[in-house]
Amino acid sequence: MKLAARVDRVTPSLTLSVTAKALGMKAEGIDVCSFSAGEPDFDTPAHIKAAAQQALDEGKTRYGPAAGEPLLREAIARKLQQDNQLNYTAENVIVTNGGKHSLYNMMMALIEPGDEVIIPVPYWVSYPEMVKLAGGTPVLVQTTAATGYKITPAQLRQAVTPQTKLFVLNSPSNPTGMVYTPAEISALAEVVVEQDILVVSDEIYEKILYQGAEHLSIGAVSHEAFVRTIVSNGFAKAYSMTGWRVGYLAGAVELIKACSKLQGHSTSNVCTFAQYGAIAALSESQDCVERMRLAFSQRREVMLERINAIPGLSCVVKPTGAFYLFVDISKTGLNSREFSNSLLESQQVAVIPGIAFGADDHIRLSYATDMTTIEKGMDRLEKFMRSLK
Ligand code: GLU
Repeated sequence: MKLAARVDRVTPSLTLSVTAKALGMKAEGIDVCSFSAGEPDFDTPAHIKAAAQQALDEGKTRYGPAAGEPLLREAIARKLQQDNQLNYTAENVIVTNGGKHSLYNMMMALIEPGDEVIIPVPYWVSYPEMVKLAGGTPVLVQTTAATGYKITPAQLRQAVTPQTKLFVLNSPSNPTGMVYTPAEISALAEVVVEQDILVVSDEIYEKILYQGAEHLSIGAVSHEAFVRTIVSNGFAKAYSMTGWRVGYLAGAVELIKACSKLQGHSTSNVCTFAQYGAIAALSESQDCVERMRLAFSQRREVMLERINAIPGLSCVVKPTGAFYLFVDISKTGLNSREFSNSLLESQQVAVIPGIAFGADDHIRLSYATDMTTIEKGMDRLEKFMRSLK
């Protein structure tokens, strides 16, 4: 069978394939410690499940508008106004099948051959692939531990060409866990305005912050930045709703209408009763978000201390957001796939090779898992590192 060329342009998602492999090994009865997918281990909070159940009981089991339930679009717009100081109304919002899908829709609606999209490295695995699927060219800008893996305004300015359409900003970051300060966001916003490019701000980890880190949405910096900003977010990480597949995109009405048109010919609406769970997530108490954040915070401390105590490994930039540690493995002399495969085979510890994020001398560990797995996994990692000597 001759497949379309676009399939060859992209590589499979390593976050998903490593996670599936670890799950498969578990199903075979193997005791795997998985630090692979960024997926909170908590159950979805009871009030959110109850709202979806009630929607089911009330017969909210039919097709809905492709762009989402009007009540949810309104609730999201209110959230963006209140939490992020972004002046959106329901018309500026589309509900999508997860945060990943909102980014995919946006790339499909905006990017075409010849367009360049600036992506700082390390990046989340799917950004460059989505750009390629849309026919565009990813322009990868290397960052270093010295700048906390953050793109500087000078680097951004230098990467802009007449073909630049979009800049992808992700703070808190997957995979590094770094968070841009409000001053850094403002400085990047100035470049976006001065160069007159668009910016998509992936804010899926906005609620998962530590040590006083602050989240500022780039669109809140100025009116000029706001009109060039597109926001992607979702319910998976903050509310432990990964399998529900509810995310959203916010931006100019014409972009939202374009995405809605694409969605109308592809997925149609997101699962109707799941959207009612999402309404409850936004409109009821936010205590569950804080409870989970506190648990992540404790796990982060333990895991960081353990990793940095293992000779040959280091996590130099202390992450202040999300739930990942980005660990430098360069001293081992192994590349990230060799390291990850060998660790999984010999010690049954699953991590994501940094090559997935454009950094082959790193691995990513998610600490969105329980403390017992963390302690056991770190013991095994220590043993693995000793075995390399
Ligand atoms: N975003 C999560 C991660 O990076 C889930 C997997 C995925 O969607 O890539 O692990």
